[in-house]
Amino acid sequence: MRLFGGKKYSTIKVRKKDLPAGLWVKCPGCAEIVYKHEIESGVGVCPKCRHHFQIGWQARLASLVEQGTFEEIDADLVSADPLDFKGQSTYVSKMQDARRKTGMRDAVVCGLAAIGPVRVAIGVMDFAFMGGSMGSVVGEKVTRLVERGTRDRLPVIVICSSGGARMYEGMLSLMQMAKTSAAVARHSRAGLPFITVLTHPTTAGVMASYASLGDVIIAEPGALIGFAGPRVIRETTREEVPPGFQRSDFVLKHGLVDMIVPRPELKPTLLRLLGYMCNLPAGQTPAPAPVEAQPDSYAGPGHVSS
Ligand SMILES: [Zn+2]
Repeated sequence: MRLFGGKKYSTIKVRKKDLPAGLWVKCPGCAEIVYKHEIESGVGVCPKCRHHFQIGWQARLASLVEQGTFEEIDADLVSADPLDFKGQSTYVSKMQDARRKTGMRDAVVCGLAAIGPVRVAIGVMDFAFMGGSMGSVVGEKVTRLVERGTRDRLPVIVICSSGGARMYEGMLSLMQMAKTSAAVARHSRAGLPFITVLTHPTTAGVMASYASLGDVIIAEPGALIGFAGPRVIRETTREEVPPGFQRSDFVLKHGLVDMIVPRPELKPTLLRLLGYMCNLPAGQTPAPAPVEAQPDSYAGPGHVSS
């Protein structure tokens, strides 16, 4: 105790910061406090309400491809700083921070892997790397992935997560939309399957190019999917957007995606689709799983670390 002007003040302070950090996370779906390990040890789905948290590229790959089969391609591609961008911080320092945080060199990791008996070319975007933004490296890596798929006659799967084009690269970012789309068209002309999985959020330049070009477009429950976000649309049109606007259920109802697949069902669903599209013999792919109802109170994904 210290005495100040005759009054007693305790020097013992219990602050929020003193609690063990990062062990618990508040679920945006059900507002329950959930043990973070419980989410991270699974596939990032709330055990109470099935809310889908954003997950990193490593967890995503581990949940989809057979262990030890992933061979990364084009791992060494890194972005230049063509505009010599300087704002509150430079593009170079933002990229360095993102690399430290995610262990990625840019916002997508691409490679070849096996899903069950099927060899695939797969790309995984991670929102934690500068909001999954598409600059020249993301565009080039996705293009090369699709071209590799075309050359080796492989199905291509891209797990999408993006806030849009990377403004730090200006026009070069926008050019990636045409380049990736052209590569997807050539892959399609070769008669090969292209599947996209839209996770929360998949928007803007990525949605306006390869994400929306899948032969089958799968959405995760509660994902925000669209071109401009609801806030921009509201401010531009000065009209309220309908409830649930641009969420998975809404875009499924309006025909923008083919199916909504809960994350635990994603791998068996991909296997079934690949089995069908690659003419695999019956018995090599799993039987259809029962459809799992989503709770009405679904509030859209948050991040595990939020
Ligand atoms: Zn929950």
